[in-house]
Amino acid sequence: MCFQFDLKAFAFELEEGQIVLFHQIDDGFNVVEFQSGILLVVACMLGSGRKIAQAPLQFCPISSHCLKMLANQRRTSDLEAKLTKHVIAVGKCRRCPNMASGAVTGNPVASRVMLLGQAPGVKEPLLGKPFAWTAGKTLFKWFNDVLTVDEPEFRSSVYMAAVCRCFPGKTAAGGDRVPSKTEVANCKEWLDFEIGLLQPELIIPVGKLAIGQFLNPVPPLTELIGQLLTYKQGKYRFDLIPLPHPSGASPWHRIEPGKTLTLRALELIRDHPVWIARLG
Ligand code: SF4
Repeated sequence: MCFQFDLKAFAFELEEGQIVLFHQIDDGFNVVEFQSGILLVVACMLGSGRKIAQAPLQFCPISSHCLKMLANQRRTSDLEAKLTKHVIAVGKCRRCPNMASGAVTGNPVASRVMLLGQAPGVKEPLLGKPFAWTAGKTLFKWFNDVLTVDEPEFRSSVYMAAVCRCFPGKTAAGGDRVPSKTEVANCKEWLDFEIGLLQPELIIPVGKLAIGQFLNPVPPLTELIGQLLTYKQGKYRFDLIPLPHPSGASPWHRIEPGKTLTLRALELIRDHPVWIARLG
């Protein structure tokens, strides 16, 4: 046996000649060092980094399986650092003068699954996260019911992007303004960068505007929802499982055949191998 820890709980970094894992526990860290194939555990006080104990725990040759897992952890860590920078840059973007708010971003999650929304509503910029209001309630209920993930788990395991990251404002009639072609094209640069960086294997576009980033023209929802499609964008290939927009403004997902097709789409996500291993 190599080690018994839950690797998801670890961040790690490579230093010359050694691999160091930091495992956060209650009020301190266990620092696990691999040196010359020997596993040591060092307990350090949180913050101070002061070693309070050091003891050989067990001798353990580093297997290729371990190294592969460590390489994955390293990739995730690097990716999250790049995503964090990216999300900060998007948050400062003011490229579209007619937008009514600043950008709303999701968490910098190094996930193999990306959710693509349309644009935030009036509440999301105030609450600082996508799908934070009425449509989000329905969306997260779907995920909770069918994918059996709650909202915090979804937000921390799926990268949440949008066609436009800023609230476009209201129309004279009181509805949310549809972003202009220029605004969509401006924000697509962020999306393309994210696809290149994350190389997602499954994208879930939510609503026609999001689906339209991949399919033009957008087929009728009755022919599209409940389908799994493969899409190629430049050198990147990924699966698409479109969802209808969960907004209360459209009854499509609440009445047949939309209700059954929406459930079928959610089941496709639940059963997709990439969904199961989205942080792997
Ligand atoms: S919609 Fe996108 S491109 Fe336009 S200002 Fe907001 S973040 Fe920038």
